[in-house]
Amino acid sequence: MRPYILSESNWNYIKDAKFDLAILPWGATEAHNYHLPYASDNIEAEMIAAEAARKAWEKGAKVIVLPTIPFGVNTGQSDIYLDINLNPSTQMLILKDVVEVLNRQGIHRLMILNSHGGNDFKQMIRELGLKFPKMFICTTNWFTAVNREDYFENSGDHAEEMETSVLLHLTPELVLPKEKWGDGKTKKFKVKALNERWLWAERKWSSVSADTGIGNPEMASKEKGKKFVDDTTDKIGNAIYEICQAKLDDLYE
Ligand SMILES: [Zn+2]
Repeated sequence: MRPYILSESNWNYIKDAKFDLAILPWGATEAHNYHLPYASDNIEAEMIAAEAARKAWEKGAKVIVLPTIPFGVNTGQSDIYLDINLNPSTQMLILKDVVEVLNRQGIHRLMILNSHGGNDFKQMIRELGLKFPKMFICTTNWFTAVNREDYFENSGDHAEEMETSVLLHLTPELVLPKEKWGDGKTKKFKVKALNERWLWAERKWSSVSADTGIGNPEMASKEKGKKFVDDTTDKIGNAIYEICQAKLDDLYE
């Protein structure tokens, strides 16, 4: 039993334990090119949260990782078989209930460790901040903690070189052999501003990618994935430690 993972813990231990910060990993259930598992985002969220928490715990942070929420916002993939959509309004209800428990029980720090591009918790955190003024709630898209261009040749944002490398490191047994990988070729918008990203609209996934991937995974490797995950969890682990050390009524300098 890892003492910072709630799903492995028991009441014998928890009844006398005290935590400063909870981590809520949040993923999605969706197709990831031909070769990565539907649970890719959940595996990443869970394993990266656990490793970052371990690093912080070993420095003395009282952190507990909650079970991963396995469904995310997949509104743009409504025609992709068994992509399971959880609407943002449903996510808000789930998040509010979790925050309510933490608030009532005196765990006033929460980090949402998000794994899925379609999830966006910022506005929910603003709203919950008014309802629960004692709570400090923060969120990270773990894959933005370090600069991915320092690790990978090809860009993309779904089942691409980065994500394939990470899964080759975390759960190689769930990655199909390389000859099955799609090229993640992606169609662009005809409206230029949307490709420049300063104007945003949701992409209809099945219209932009044949294999559901966004970005070519061909240069992916286990070694690249390990380095990326090691550096990412170092950085998130440090942030966890700092949040646990911080005084919530004295956050600014
Ligand atoms: Zn993913």
